[in-house]
Amino acid sequence: MKLADRINRIEPSPTLAISARAKQMVADGIDVISFSAGEPDFNTPESIREAAKRAIDEGKTKYTPAAGIPQLRQAIADDYKKRGRDIEASQVVVTVGGKHALYNATQVLFGEGDKVLIPAPYWVSYPAQVTLADAEPIAVETGLDTHFKMLPEQLEKQLEDPSVKGVILCSPSNPTGSCYSKEELEALGEVLKTREDVVVFFDAIYDRLYYGGGIAPDLVATVPELEDRTITFNGFSKTYAMTGWRLGYAHGPQEIISAMAKLQSQSTSNTTAFAQWGALEALNLDDSVIDEMRDIFKRRRDLIVEGLNAIDGVECATPDGAFYVFPDFSSFIGDRFEDDMALAGYLLDEAKVALVPGSAFGTPGYLRMSYATSDELIEKGVARIKDALG
Ligand code: PLP
Repeated sequence: MKLADRINRIEPSPTLAISARAKQMVADGIDVISFSAGEPDFNTPESIREAAKRAIDEGKTKYTPAAGIPQLRQAIADDYKKRGRDIEASQVVVTVGGKHALYNATQVLFGEGDKVLIPAPYWVSYPAQVTLADAEPIAVETGLDTHFKMLPEQLEKQLEDPSVKGVILCSPSNPTGSCYSKEELEALGEVLKTREDVVVFFDAIYDRLYYGGGIAPDLVATVPELEDRTITFNGFSKTYAMTGWRLGYAHGPQEIISAMAKLQSQSTSNTTAFAQWGALEALNLDDSVIDEMRDIFKRRRDLIVEGLNAIDGVECATPDGAFYVFPDFSSFIGDRFEDDMALAGYLLDEAKVALVPGSAFGTPGYLRMSYATSDELIEKGVARIKDALG
C-alpha cells in the first residue's frame, strides 16, 4: 500500500517514543528512572475528577458544539482576564489538547510556499505540524548565552524574507523552561509590528507553572497591537495535571477561530463532553491548588539544576517555568560519544536513566530532562548520570 507523501515527511514524536521505551523497561522489571515524560506526576485534583463523574451521571455524554460547551468557552475567556486580556467566548475554541489546537491553526493558516519561524530548541511538534500543512519550518537558533531566547535582531533578519507567514513563540518553553519577560516581548513586538502580514502563535501552555511570580507574561497583553493576528494556545494538561483528558484551547481573531472550529466540525466533531465539564471545574479551582503544585516543581527545579551543575562538564541554566531543564552536555560529544543520541542511548542502557537528546528539539549537544518526578528520583537519577560519566 502506498501511503500519502504527507505522512512520510514527518517522524513519530521522539519524546513519546523515548517515554514509551522507558515505560516498557519499567514494565520488564528494569529499574529505570525516567526524566523523559512531559507530564506532571500529580493526580488530577479531586474536584475536577468529581465534576466529570457527575457529568457522566447527569447524562452529559452527548455531542457538544464543535468549538466546545458555551460555559467552558466563557470560563476560558473569563480566566484570561487574569492575564490582562478581554476576549469574547466566541473567540475561544476548545480542542483535543493544546497539540490539536496548534495542528488546527497550522492547517487553517499555512500552506505551500509559506515559511514559519520557530526558535530552536523547539517543541518537537511545531516543525512536524508546519510540514504537515505543506509549509516550511525555519529554525532560528538560540543558545545558553541568551537563555534560549530569540533576540529581536534575529527576528528582524528573518522577517526580511517576504515568504515568512508565521512565527511560533513558546513561553515558558518546552524544552528549556525559559520564559520571555515583558520587556523581551515588547522588543519582539516592536519587530513584529513591522510585518502586518505575519501571524503569531503564542503557546502559553506552561504559563501557570512560572517561577517569576504570578502568571508568565502574555504576548497580547504586553503588545496589544498584535491582537488581530495572534493566536494564543493553552490547555489543561500541564496546569491541572490533566494530560490524559486531552483538553486544550486556542483563542484569537474571530475569523481564524471560526475556521479552526469548522475544521474540527469535519474531523473530531468536539472534545469529550464530560471532560469539558471537568475542565470547567478546573477553572473554578482555587489558585492555591495550582500554586502548591508549582512550588513543588520549583523545589525540584532547584534540586536538579544544582545536581547537574555539580557534574564536571555539564552546564545547566536555571529555568523560569515549566518542568524541564536543558543542560549542555556538549563537552562529552566528540571523543566519547558520537552525538547526543549516542549519549542518551548510553545513559539509558548503562545508567538506566531516560532523557531526550537535544537534537530532537533542533539543538544537538544538550539533553532534555523533565523534573516532574520525586525529589528522591531526581537525586538518584542525577547521581547515576554523574557515575556513568565520571
Ligand atoms: N505545547 C507545548 C510546548 C507542549 O510541551 C505540549 C505538550 O507537551 C503541548 C503544547 C500540548 O499539550 P496537550 O496537547 O497535552 O495540551
